[in-house]
Amino acid sequence: MSDCIFCAIASKKSPANIEIETDNVIAFHDLHKDAPVHILVVPKKHFESLNDIKDSDGLIIGELFLVAKQVAEKLNIAKSGYRCIINTNQDAGQVVKHIHLHLLGGKPLGPLVQKDLK
Ligand code: 5GP
Ligand code: ZN
Repeated sequence: MSDCIFCAIASKKSPANIEIETDNVIAFHDLHKDAPVHILVVPKKHFESLNDIKDSDGLIIGELFLVAKQVAEKLNIAKSGYRCIINTNQDAGQVVKHIHLHLLGGKPLGPLVQKDLK
């Protein structure tokens, strides 16, 4: 997609601090990190959100998690632990409309959801 920042990063038209790249996936540091380690793992193919994937896209979505695991090992947070999050649409706070997996770690992250929000 021409006006998509993650498509631009995937095609090297925009810069990013890349940790791992495969034929299908690119993993780079988030510009505004929410944890000591905050990586975005992104399919090179444009999907607006998880709502747009088909049965035939299962391998590429699986690869997001495989690459997340590899980045966690590379950055030495695999043993201490990390969290993988994919935000979908407004209630989850998805801002960039190109699927991305947030890999967060490097400190104790606390509960995912505050109890009073349940
Ligand atoms: P979302 O809220 O859509 O799940 O997360 C989007 C993430 O993309 C945010 O954490 C934001 O900091 C990050 N982000 C937005 N634009 C850029 C960019 O141009 N480069 C990088 N590296 N990260 C970005
Ligand atoms: Zn895109």
